[in-house]
Order: sequence, then C-alpha cells, then structure tokens
Amino acid sequence: MDFEDTPEEAAYRAQVRGWLGKNALSIPPGTRVGVTESKAWQKIKAAAGYAAITWPKEYGGQGGTSMQNVIYGQEESQYNLPGNVFLIGLGMAMPMLMVHGSPEQRQRYIKPALYGEEIWCQLFSEPGAGSDLAGVRSRAERDGDDWVINGQKIWTSGAHYSDFGILVVRTDPNVPKHKGLSFFLVDMKSPGVRVERIRQISGQSHFNEVFLENVRIPDVNRVGAVGDGWKVALTVLMNERSAVGNMGAGLGIDEMIQLARDTELHDGPAIRNAAVREKIADWHVQSQGLKYTRFRSLTALSKGQTPGPENSIAKAVSAPRRQDLSAFAIEMMDMGGIIRDRTISPYRASYEEDWLSSPGIRIAGGTDEILKNIIAERVLKLPGEIRVDSDVAFNELPSGR
Ligand SMILES: Cc1cc2nc3c(=O)[nH]c(=O)nc-3n(C[C@H](O)[C@H](O)[C@H](O)COP(=O)(O)OP(=O)(O)OC[C@H]3O[C@@H](n4cnc5c(N)ncnc54)[C@H](O)[C@@H]3O)c2cc1C
Repeated sequence: MDFEDTPEEAAYRAQVRGWLGKNALSIPPGTRVGVTESKAWQKIKAAAGYAAITWPKEYGGQGGTSMQNVIYGQEESQYNLPGNVFLIGLGMAMPMLMVHGSPEQRQRYIKPALYGEEIWCQLFSEPGAGSDLAGVRSRAERDGDDWVINGQKIWTSGAHYSDFGILVVRTDPNVPKHKGLSFFLVDMKSPGVRVERIRQISGQSHFNEVFLENVRIPDVNRVGAVGDGWKVALTVLMNERSAVGNMGAGLGIDEMIQLARDTELHDGPAIRNAAVREKIADWHVQSQGLKYTRFRSLTALSKGQTPGPENSIAKAVSAPRRQDLSAFAIEMMDMGGIIRDRTISPYRASYEEDWLSSPGIRIAGGTDEILKNIIAERVLKLPGEIRVDSDVAFNELPSGR
C-alpha cells in the first residue's frame, strides 16, 4: 500500500487538524474525567459531524469514507480527551438498528445516541454463556403487548451509567439454541433491572452484574422477528470484532526502550543488559508485524473493502504482548514496579495499570482461544470445530443443572 495520504486524504487531515485545534477540550494529563465530560465532548463532535463520520447523512453522519474515520481517529488521539463511553451505542447498537431496526426505533434512538444524550450497554454475556453466546438462559415470555424478562447478565460494561441496553434472551427453548433467541432494547431504568458493580483487580469497577426480575419490555422494543435474535446479535458481534483489533495496544516499544534507558540495574543501565535487549528485540519484531497487519486493514478500507480477519490477528498478538511487556517492565523496576503513585513515577502507575487490565483484554471481544479458532478456520482453512449441539432443542441440551 501507499503509506502517504492521497491529496484528498491530506486535505481532510488538514481540515480535521484545524477543527481539533480550535475545539478539542483541553484536559490536563492525569485528570480524572467522567461521563459528564464525555457527554460534553460528544455533543461538540456530533454538532460538527465528526461523531460518526462514516454514517449516512440521514442519521447525522458525514457519509464519509472509512479512511476519513481512520484519519480523524489518528488526529484525535494526539489530544487528551474524555474516555469514550459511547463505544457500544455508536459502534454496535446504532449500526445494528440501521440494519434491523424499525423506522420508529431509528427515529427514536439514533440521534440522542449520536449527540451523547443517551448511553448504551450490551446485555449479552451470562454466567453460562460467553464465547458460546447462543447458550443464553435469560428468558422472555409474551404477556399482552409486553414481554416479561427474567434472568441474569454479567460483565456488562458501563451498565451503571447506561440509559439503554441491547439484550439477547431466549423466547423458545424448544428449538435449537440459535433459533430460539429474540433481541430487545431495554430501558435500564425499568422496574426489575438491578445493576451490581463488579470490583476488578485494579480497584476499579467498569463492569457489572445485571439482574432482570419480571422486567416488562413493550413489543415495540423488539428488534427483528421473534426467534431472529441470533441474526441481529451477529450484526452487533461483527461490529464488535472490527473494533477489537485496537483493544490490546497499551504502552509500546518506544516507551519500553525509554524505560530501559532510565532504569539502573545492578550491572548498569537496563538498556545494556543482554536479557533486556533480547526481549526488546522480540517486541520490536512483533511491533513491526502488528504495524503491517494494521496497514493491511487500512489498505482494504482505503479500497472500500471490508478488512478480513486482520483484527483477530492483531488482538491475538497484542493482548498477550501487553501482559508480557508490562510484567517485564514491572519486574525490571524491582520493588518500584509496584508503586502506583504517579507523582513518584508516571511509568510505574501506567505499567501496573496495563498489567492489571491485560487479562480482561485477553477475554473481552473474543478470548485468545476463540480468536485462534477464527484464524485457524478463516485464514489457515483448517477443519471447523465440531459442533454437536446445533440441531438439538435447547431444553434437551445437558446443562449440568
Ligand atoms: C473487560 C471485559 C468487558 C466485557 N464487557 C462485556 C459487555 O459489555 N457485555 C457483555 O455482554 N459481555 C462483556 N464481556 C464478557 C465477554 O464477552 C466474555 O467474557 C467472553 O465472551 C468470554 O466468555 P466467558 O467469560 O463466559 O468465558 P468462556 O466462554 O466460558 O470461556 C472460558 C475459557 O474457555 C475457552 N473456550 C471457550 N470456548 C472455546 C472454544 N470453542 N474453543 C477453545 N476454547 C474455548 C475460552 O477461551 C476461555 O479460556 C466483557 C468481558 C471483559 C473481560
């Protein structure tokens, strides 16, 4: 691929740079920013057309190209901006509504999501259904114009500040597991929705358990036909997969080289130590592989094509690498490696943060093993996994209960 911007791309980059220079909120590094700041920034972006560059104009987007979206992302990442609490709403739920939603649903939900007025969460995983999402046991039963929902979801990122959730539940246990699911939009303030924060190893609580007890959802909030929930969920998962490639990144090779320069070991600066140099060389090779894999995705995007399994490859490499690299950095700093106080050392806090979050990143949006299965089947064309339960009625599957 040609790594330089085309004249059109360069012009777009200049336009974006100019706009960000005037409008990007200035937040000092290290400042804790919350949902309020994220909403404020989202509103500014949406009003200028930068919140959903590739969306059609009828939904408030620019009708722009994927490359323009990439360019915007590259330029925006130069600024310290509020975290993106809209990823599920704008990256998964709204694109799904554009495909499967009714005109009324699109009219009601897309614009408030775009302007950051309503936040969405993803109520898919359950204690017994994660990689095998079609195994969900939460159920919906029809009652007049409503559906009554009972069950439990888990690992629901951002449920504690979300206004709405996208929900997959079982409406028919008498048919094979993929065929008895339906898809709903749920108001998180509905009676019977209970959100319990999960405390993570880092001390933070990004995700939750969500208990659904006799929650009533009007039938107008069903997306797709009854029993077509898997088809709708797949659209969400496809959008999720295309986002996961960027999840693993964390601190990179340049920061690692600088850290090795700054760290004194018993035999001198770490950068001169043979074991450290060998690790840095390995990570450098990986960095180059990741860089060119990403360029392959960009090449596909710039030609208007959909990237293939490159994102799965990128995440399968970068998430374990983040864990490996941060563990090595912490060890290299000896006892200093576990000091989290940024005022003592900005490095230390960041590497520990990366290390504590990396196991979760190896699971979220497809575990290491699931990504390897995808690469084996779609890239290497190895025989598919044996699936013995696809033709058996869900309520006849052994459940261990
Ligand atoms: C940070 C984070 C945020 C998340 N946010 C959300 C959210 O917002 N909404 C939501 O619905 N969910 C969310 N999840 C849940 C996530 O989607 C699941 O954790 C994930 O799909 C794995 O499911 P599981 O935890 O049930 O593990 P399982 O699927 O039970 O997997 C357990 C182990 O078995 C392995 N395994 C499973 N199946 C296979 C197979 N076929 N072949 C080989 N090995 C296999 C897995 O790789 C894993 O090692 C989040 C998870 C994390 C960590």
